Amino acid sequence: FFSSVLPPPEDPVLSVYFASRDDPSPVKLNLSGGSYRTEEGKPLVLEVVRKAEQQLANDMSRNKEYLPLDGLADFNNLSAKLILGADSPALEEDRVVTIQCLSGTGSLRVGAEFLAKHHQERVIFVSNPTWGNHPLIFNLAGLSVEVYRYYDPKTRGLDFKGMLEDLSAAPSGAIVVLQACAHNPTGVDPTLDQWEQIRKLVRSKSLLPFFDNAYQGFASGSLDIDAKAVRMFVADGGECFIAQSFSKNMGLYGERIGALTIVCTSKDVARNVHSQVLLVVRPMYLSPPIHGASIVTTILKNSDMYKDWTIELKGMVSRIVSMRQQLYEALQARGTPGDWSNIIKQIGMFSFTGLNEKQIRFIAKEYHIYMTYDGRISMAGLSSKTVLIQLADAIHAAIT
Ligand code: PMP
Repeated sequence: FFSSVLPPPEDPVLSVYFASRDDPSPVKLNLSGGSYRTEEGKPLVLEVVRKAEQQLANDMSRNKEYLPLDGLADFNNLSAKLILGADSPALEEDRVVTIQCLSGTGSLRVGAEFLAKHHQERVIFVSNPTWGNHPLIFNLAGLSVEVYRYYDPKTRGLDFKGMLEDLSAAPSGAIVVLQACAHNPTGVDPTLDQWEQIRKLVRSKSLLPFFDNAYQGFASGSLDIDAKAVRMFVADGGECFIAQSFSKNMGLYGERIGALTIVCTSKDVARNVHSQVLLVVRPMYLSPPIHGASIVTTILKNSDMYKDWTIELKGMVSRIVSMRQQLYEALQARGTPGDWSNIIKQIGMFSFTGLNEKQIRFIAKEYHIYMTYDGRISMAGLSSKTVLIQLADAIHAAIT
């Protein structure tokens, strides 16, 4: 039956993963992934997550029944409050639909399927560059993916003019994917003033914003500050889609826990949208998993645990900021040619180094350090003990 199945086209992200996996060097280092690592290079389970799991394990009244199609009700309410703000008028007016999904990816996919079925304009714009899975998710749902300018390699910053020009030329009704904060892969976010201009343009051109909120808390260390762009759009009363993930900010990667929020213009619209989203979910996976949702709910419900979470989140962010500073200083100390200030200016988990493919291949071959071929490195995968020196030496050698 399957003899005519062709091998898949080469995937640049997977090929880095395979190259790193097959490298026997004891000092190899893979900086291509997007998971937080401790100073010892180990995955981190937050203390507050362990505590919540303990509490759940001790609760004998819990069972393993199916959740409803839209997931755990408390989880949905608390997740919506986390991104929109507890005092959000949209929540008070009861025109917000939130459903538990399989993390950020699942939320994007369910949102995309809903839009392909119920939105008149099928064009969806993503930033250039963007997270590699965005085009795959949206294409598969039947949307037509286009790009808007975002990153300027010359300044290693935002191409704000290009972004506004491209969004101005988008057809009315087009969907625009905006990363809420800590843009992947560039680490470059608009300022609040720029967000305000983007918002005005999106609304005046009747575009539909679809926020990808995978890193709330990871840009500034504050959950509220990182929600500002989204809240700005929701405050104007317009429609808005938000895909939310707890993979990074609670370290719940493998639990696959997130939410899709759709802000509607009225309670009646929200009721219909809600029932139609359930029709997207039902044939796809029927009902979402219970464990991750229970962990998040336990933490968000309890003010002490919530506080503990914000402290641990800040701890992860400040370690990343310190890695940026240390890498920048190590390059300065070596006199590595070029302006490396982008490493400290960029925010979130990643740094877009500006290294080219030849330099990246050289670093992999000679120094056993792996990064994606667009020059993105996960700052969260570095440690000050050994790796910083190793990476700074490698970059210096590749440049000179
Ligand atoms: N959006 C962006 C921009 C991401 O970087 C990621 C994870 N790499 C996701 C969404 C989805 O992650 P998850 O499905 O684990 O929530």
